[in-house]
Amino acid sequence: MATKTLSSCIFCKIVKGDIPSYKLIETEFSFSFLDIGPLSKGHALIVPKYHAEKLHQLPDEYLTDVLPIAKKIALALGCENYNVLQNNGRIAQQEVDHVHFHVIPKPSASDSEG
Ligand code: 5GP
Ligand code: ZN
Repeated sequence: MATKTLSSCIFCKIVKGDIPSYKLIETEFSFSFLDIGPLSKGHALIVPKYHAEKLHQLPDEYLTDVLPIAKKIALALGCENYNVLQNNGRIAQQEVDHVHFHVIPKPSASDSEG
């Protein structure tokens, strides 16, 4: 498996455990954890264990389990409404230059009752 890390990258540091995170699922290819600035409760990030800035620069093998992990997270959160999304480049709202996927629950009004 080809690996690549960048010492100055915040997500590479999280993957290595040099920066703490609320870890969800770790596999050979990816590391997922809760977003530090969640757009909703349970907002998660799936980060491939290979430093590429954007999706088109990432070797295919690192995409193998991204959607199965997004599915596991959605099931664990009990989401019926959620977005799975991925930003590339500043104009497309990418802030962290290490490719990653968001799982963002969209709670309905009834989810916050009680
Ligand atoms: P982007 O805008 O690049 O698609 O999303 C980057 C996401 O990474 C943001 O939602 C931001 O809150 C999250 N983030 C940035 N730094 C950290 C960090 O140190 N820890 C965690 N858990 N999330 C982070
Ligand atoms: Zn990185």
